[in-house]
Amino acid sequence: VTTRLLRVDESPSAITDAAQVLRSGGLVAFPTETVYGLGADAFNERAVGSLFEAKGRPMDNPLIVHIADFFQAVELAADVPPLARELAAYFWPGPLTLVLSHNGKIPPVVTAGLPTVAVRMPDHKVALDLIRECGGGIVGPSANTSGKPSPTRAEHVLDDLNGKIDIILDAGPTKKGIESTIVDVTVDPPVILRLGSLPQSVIEDHIGKILLTEDDSFLRRAPGTRYRHYSPRAEVVLLNEADAATLETLIESELAAGKRVGCLLHSLEHAEGKNLRVIRLNGIEAISRMLYDAFRRLDEWQSNIIIVESTDDPELGPTVMDRLRRAAGYSGVPSPTAK
Ligand code: AMP
Ligand code: MG
Repeated sequence: VTTRLLRVDESPSAITDAAQVLRSGGLVAFPTETVYGLGADAFNERAVGSLFEAKGRPMDNPLIVHIADFFQAVELAADVPPLARELAAYFWPGPLTLVLSHNGKIPPVVTAGLPTVAVRMPDHKVALDLIRECGGGIVGPSANTSGKPSPTRAEHVLDDLNGKIDIILDAGPTKKGIESTIVDVTVDPPVILRLGSLPQSVIEDHIGKILLTEDDSFLRRAPGTRYRHYSPRAEVVLLNEADAATLETLIESELAAGKRVGCLLHSLEHAEGKNLRVIRLNGIEAISRMLYDAFRRLDEWQSNIIIVESTDDPELGPTVMDRLRRAAGYSGVPSPTAK
């Protein structure tokens, strides 16, 4: 396949062309407010199958259906509980995915055979226009090779999927930079299956206490959380926030061992040097927006180790730390209290 990169602001027919490709079973990468997604017609099993193949994604990892209108969720669901309606009313379009029981209309290849379906309405004009033009829901996992950091720029998509997909719609870097928050609303109180760009605390401000999964049965319901994820090639080491002494010791011993050392810092500063590269991200918004991009840049620079400063931001801190722990190779479910 020849992959066409279309800049949305420069080619007026980009979205119409992309929708046509989706309707005929092709694959289109598109921007959302979180990361770039890889779109396929959610009702075309063959197209969805080829999407798994392009990403190298395990077939037992279910996909999120992206919609442009609330009624599309209602059409797929066996039941839309009042709490789901409330959450959708507050946060859609936005970085919130709802897990609902489905009514059998969605092909099992999308849900990995589960009795539930994950649905989200992205907050990005290009994504919404594309979904509307296509006419039905489109699945949209991150448009990267499975296991790599999610793509936050069209160039990231091209690096991973050139020759494997039909179109990349380029609308510049994404606003949030980390995936959506996934909430299971088939249970009461609802349970967060994956932390994401919508902070748990913000959801709780609206609907009260929700649970964060720590329980095996929920792990099975969000199978994707089993896999090593969001990882650069380099080894990732977590550093406590503002721990300048340990940073110094670590850098020295790694350089002495002949390693190329990358650092991702926000409160600390450090000069760059031979085999030492420092990326400084100012504040929690920049950390989440630029984290995956920084991982990719440091991989390209061929760092052997990436030292990352932790964050305890009350809102997005738990989300960022979840991704960092996974990148550092810790397994298991998010645990916002563990540092
Ligand atoms: P992504 O790879 O960012 O598109 O996220 C997809 C993730 O959503 C999967 O890895 C699952 O963890 C989760 N997910 C999708 N569908 C379901 C579902 N029906 N039930 C539970 N979790 C789901
Ligand atoms: Mg992904």
